[in-house]
Amino acid sequence: MTGTDRRDEVLDVVVVGGGPAGLTAATYLRRFHRSCLVLDSGHSRARWIPETNNCPGFPQGVSGVDLLRKMKQQAASFDARFESVAVDSLRRDGDLFVLRAGDAQWRARCVILATGLSDNLPQVPWVEEAVACHALRLCSICDAYEATDTRIGVYGPLADTAAHGVFLRSYSSRVVLLPSDGAGAEDALAQARAEGIEVLPAGGVLEFDGERCSYRLPDGRVETFDSVYPYLGARTTAGLVASLGAKLSDSGEIVVDRSQQTEVPGLY
Ligand SMILES: Cc1cc2nc3c(=O)[nH]c(=O)nc-3n(C[C@H](O)[C@H](O)[C@H](O)COP(=O)(O)OP(=O)(O)OC[C@H]3O[C@@H](n4cnc5c(N)ncnc54)[C@H](O)[C@@H]3O)c2cc1C
Repeated sequence: MTGTDRRDEVLDVVVVGGGPAGLTAATYLRRFHRSCLVLDSGHSRARWIPETNNCPGFPQGVSGVDLLRKMKQQAASFDARFESVAVDSLRRDGDLFVLRAGDAQWRARCVILATGLSDNLPQVPWVEEAVACHALRLCSICDAYEATDTRIGVYGPLADTAAHGVFLRSYSSRVVLLPSDGAGAEDALAQARAEGIEVLPAGGVLEFDGERCSYRLPDGRVETFDSVYPYLGARTTAGLVASLGAKLSDSGEIVVDRSQQTEVPGLY
């Protein structure tokens, strides 16, 4: 049965997003005997993880796809329901929330937004392949351990890469900044250099040979790395709640209280 067939139903909670956060919420909600539906558009950031080695309970590591499958299985075992849709609007109707995806509609007393974020990635066709073989890494907190003592490139605007380079310097003495621009970053640059981080000229191009990423400098020289971390920022899906009046931070994140509730009662 789809959402369009259940117009009279009022759910306790609709969870928007079926990544690790949304699936965890669904498992707990069902175990609190709350009716719960997960609406998910299927683009979890976790599906990019070739193998995570910091997930408690998986000493041999687990891929993001496997982890998502197991977490969904666990939520489903408590009768959480799922629909594969992208929610395109969220509004209030009295005390209830109304969510829509195309023609389908659901009503709920509470909504949990577990929509994650999307990385801004280099605009090249080989990104997915490079992430799969760790040539490109997207989360230094998650996997810099695996890059310990290797040659690490950090690609992006100089001001951002310098700070991340300093963090990565605690994993390897061979950290190199690959600036996509060099504007207004003198302090960051000085700090990076003080940490022994090499800085290549700005304006080079990232390349991938099927195993490793390289940086082709403007003068034609090519430098190759065991891993490259791009730092190009990320996009949130906070726009979904803007029409409800939930407060956003200057950087576009949803402002919540200590209970993770937004300024809209019932919206978490
Ligand atoms: C390459 C890589 C390696 C990583 N390695 C690790 C690691 O080793 N350990 C670790 O802990 N973390 C790791 N991470 C980070 C981890 O993947 C994220 O922290 C995690 O996925 C965040 O979970 P989430 O549920 O908040 O968001 P997500 O997993 O991004 O899930 C959000 C979900 O919401 C859905 N959604 C968004 N908008 C809508 C909408 N309007 N309607 C319906 N659905 C919507 C999306 O399709 C998506 O399925 C890694 C990430 C990457 C990219």
